[in-house]
Amino acid sequence: MEKKGPIPKQKAGKIKKQAISNEELLSGIRNGDKALLARSITLVESTKLAHLEKAEELISNCLKNKTDSIRIGITGVPGVGKSTFIEVFGSYLTKTGKKVAVLAVDPSSSYTKGSILGDKTRMETLAKDPNAFIRPSPASDSLGGVTRKTRETIVLCEAAGYDVILVETVGVGQSETAVHSMVDFFLLLKLAGAGDELQGIKRGIMEMADAIVINKADGNNLKNVNLAQTEFNRALHLYPSKENEWTPKVLSCSALENKGIAEIWSMIETFTHLTRKNSHFFKNRAKQNKNWFLQTVDSLLHHKFYQNSTTKVQLQKLLVKIEKNEISPFTAAKRLVNGTKQ
Ligand code: GDP
Repeated sequence: MEKKGPIPKQKAGKIKKQAISNEELLSGIRNGDKALLARSITLVESTKLAHLEKAEELISNCLKNKTDSIRIGITGVPGVGKSTFIEVFGSYLTKTGKKVAVLAVDPSSSYTKGSILGDKTRMETLAKDPNAFIRPSPASDSLGGVTRKTRETIVLCEAAGYDVILVETVGVGQSETAVHSMVDFFLLLKLAGAGDELQGIKRGIMEMADAIVINKADGNNLKNVNLAQTEFNRALHLYPSKENEWTPKVLSCSALENKGIAEIWSMIETFTHLTRKNSHFFKNRAKQNKNWFLQTVDSLLHHKFYQNSTTKVQLQKLLVKIEKNEISPFTAAKRLVNGTKQ
């Protein structure tokens, strides 16, 4: 039931803002109105129950927009140059007439108030570019929550006509796997070290990468970059070839000096051309959608189960019994899930 009565002054603006209809949001998105796109994303990010249905309807309508976008995941440790790279790469793309959206998956913001990514001021030129849209990482209490919101934000950005969606993340926790599950192309930014390039690379990340780009290929660092490139190339050859027929590439660039950027885009275009032709591009998206569906079923079931009032009571009773050693945890779990009386 909605509360009646006078609207408190300080809240009046906020309430009025929420009153916008889905039709208005949708037409705003389709007309490339950044402010309305941002408001739509805020709606999708909202955890308020009243907003869920509205957000769901908006996303469904946006899904009907067929686009030929490319979703690119970009990962790398803090300091590797992600924001500098995205700034020059994004600007390069907008100069060629593309519309670029930058989103972030930042698990750190789930645990602490601070976030490593998603700070608009890090990409000043791009933030001012009329053909670019930057959205900081959504706040959530779990990586799963951030992931869901980012997926839905991708859908909204594509409906708004963004051709290239850059999803940035740091290699914290499972964030790389999460981003990999929502993009077409996964790019790993690296630095050239002192020879031991493969040390410290998380297991699985090499298999996920469609390209390794060694940044800071400038000044005195060039020799190290060349060595690193050889070592990564050798390492990549040890992995079995990918089902989509793409051989992961190792490139280098200097985001600071704006070098090697066109080559990176050209490589991604080659990838897109190949995988669209052999249908793996679409197969991969379909696979991601199926996983998205299954994950959603899981989380809905989980939520529904624990929200059930009988379950809540039984759960507490069983916890007491377990503490007293009157029942085994396994039997207790089965009873709770099957709804057996105790
Ligand atoms: P992020 O934490 O991964 O987003 O990294 P930043 O983009 O903030 O860059 C970290 C530092 O590396 C900054 O001081 C940048 O100026 C510097 N940097 C970024 N790209 C390059 C590059 O290509 N060459 C050099 N020499 N420095 C760079």
